Amino acid sequence: MEDKLHFNSKTIHGGQAPDKAYGSVMPPIYQTSTYAQTTPGGHKGFEYSRTHNPTRQALEKSLASIESGQFGFAFGSGLAAMDAVLKLLKPGDEIISTNDLYGGSYRLFTKIFEDFGLKFHFVGMDNLQNITDNITNETKLIWVETPTNPMMNIIDVKAVSAIAKKHNILLAVDNTFASPYIQQPLKLGADIVMHSATKYLAGHSDVVLGALVVNKTDLAERIGFIQNASGAICGPMDSFLTLRGIKTLHVRMHRHCENAETIAHFLKNHPKIETVFWPGFETHENHDVAKAQMNGFGGMLSFTTKGANYEAAIKIVERLNLFTLAESLGGVESLAGHPASMTHASIPKEVREKSGVVDALIRLSVGIEDVRDLIADLEQAIG
Ligand SMILES: *Cc1c(COP(=O)(O)O)cnc(C)c1O
Repeated sequence: MEDKLHFNSKTIHGGQAPDKAYGSVMPPIYQTSTYAQTTPGGHKGFEYSRTHNPTRQALEKSLASIESGQFGFAFGSGLAAMDAVLKLLKPGDEIISTNDLYGGSYRLFTKIFEDFGLKFHFVGMDNLQNITDNITNETKLIWVETPTNPMMNIIDVKAVSAIAKKHNILLAVDNTFASPYIQQPLKLGADIVMHSATKYLAGHSDVVLGALVVNKTDLAERIGFIQNASGAICGPMDSFLTLRGIKTLHVRMHRHCENAETIAHFLKNHPKIETVFWPGFETHENHDVAKAQMNGFGGMLSFTTKGANYEAAIKIVERLNLFTLAESLGGVESLAGHPASMTHASIPKEVREKSGVVDALIRLSVGIEDVRDLIADLEQAIG
């Protein structure tokens, strides 16, 4: 029955049933590490909470449902989820990744996993040739983030998936920026979808949590094994909060998209603004791909002001009042960030500038406040 539900019902009902014990409509927070056994091995499917926990399991079923997948896995953070994906690989394996990606992902790849013998190639994926040029016999994973962070480039997941399938390479997509309301990578041919559920899925800036969703049984078995063997799980309280967040995902995303669209046009028409990076503009380089694979253009955008340098950009973000200056994104409240000194500070300046993350760039996570108040705040800050 659930498979047939529309997305806006899946967020509320997908994989969910009233709790068996008392009919509790929301899954209880099973704050327990272990479960009573009647005889050794005689239990109700739960032995130890690193392996299984009913609250986490309720969240994992919901995650699978909203991403149109078979198997969901929840982790202690988005990076813990990525860590589990990389543990599918072996020393000597090669990974082709988006070049314009979340700073923490870049750090995990280069500062942790390169030391374990994995080799990463960071390429601009709006030109597919950059992917095929880097494929070798050792290439085992393609890592895509789209829209990219913070440049808002759009990568054609279907086209990348065709390349991955042809060469028998796993394709993983970081779907954090879009959320499954906007795009569902498994449907576009990805093997693994990853989330920092910290952002739009939980949606209220009150939890750090990560997720993976897959369709193939063998892949699910291996990821389940890694999740239990490495142990980077999330707790029952955080699982509960994320599940509660997901129930309003569709309503929030609708407003995030609306507000971001209004702000994108306001900035574009502002005399002091140089460039606005938002995939909804017809002039955006990947607008056609965005229109084809996304249901809306999301709540994120970036911009530069004319003649701005590092100090000028920092002054603008400091002057904002309603937009909070903070890392992260995807919560109901609007946030502003300066990627060069914040989220992308761990990427060397030459590397980040090559992908457009210049000192003048400001990134907005547009919240769901009244957009008139958000615009008034931007107006006074830009001056
Ligand atoms: C935040 C983020 C991550 C990392 O997730 P955490 O939950 O902070 O560990 C990965 N990818 C993207 C796109 C993100 O925004």
